[in-house]
Amino acid sequence: QIKPLVAGNWKMNGHRAQLATFAQMCRGVGPALAKSVDVMICPPATLIYSLAAAAVGERIAVGAQDCHAAASGAHTGDLSAEMLADCGARAVILGHSERRADHGETDRSVNGKALAAWRAGLTAIICVGETEAERKAGRAVEVVSGQLAGSVPEGARSDNTVIAYEPVWAIGTGLTPTADDVEEMHREIRSRLCASFGDHGKDMRILYGGSVKPGNAKELMAVANVNGALVGGASLKTDDFLGILDAYR
Ligand code: 13P
Repeated sequence: QIKPLVAGNWKMNGHRAQLATFAQMCRGVGPALAKSVDVMICPPATLIYSLAAAAVGERIAVGAQDCHAAASGAHTGDLSAEMLADCGARAVILGHSERRADHGETDRSVNGKALAAWRAGLTAIICVGETEAERKAGRAVEVVSGQLAGSVPEGARSDNTVIAYEPVWAIGTGLTPTADDVEEMHREIRSRLCASFGDHGKDMRILYGGSVKPGNAKELMAVANVNGALVGGASLKTDDFLGILDAYR
């Protein structure tokens, strides 16, 4: 039995004023809910330290959205996994499609960042997903398999790695794949993780991401091999985020 994870990705949103939002979210996650689902918020790096301080004794963990592959050095503007861990982050999202698109991240660079995350004791949340053109061309499974093979390093375990399947065309669009399409892709991902990582692949969490909302969370979270969600826009508002978590109440 895999314990699901619902992680909010705040992307480049949020100022210190949103500490109040985070505190509200923490109040909404009681002990009963926390038994059935792990909950995390990944704020912009500027807020990691203060959210992590506010999260002490609460039931929401804090994660980051990216890290550099090196532990330290001459990399102006970058942050190492060790720095994120030092601020209280427990996990880091890696290879999000927005970073692959905006910053030219490749499977190879994501692979190096995942190793860095593990070195610092962070869970790597590794994102994969096809574009609309790739899906229309019937290449979705092939693309995602290639990203998995390239981005997830050897040594991935169920306690150091989470996979997030986020079809690019579903991110921020209000569009979602059908439950059947999600099931097919998650089944493929599961079989490849099992082939590569044995029992760890069997137990590794596979999140769905892309326009998850309170209105569709229950259906999506009930799909076989969907072990939680990576939530963008709907993780910025307390009601929406708690509404998604209701899928696990
Ligand atoms: P939305 O939930 O806003 O579609 O974003 C999904 C996402 O990219 C989470 O990482």
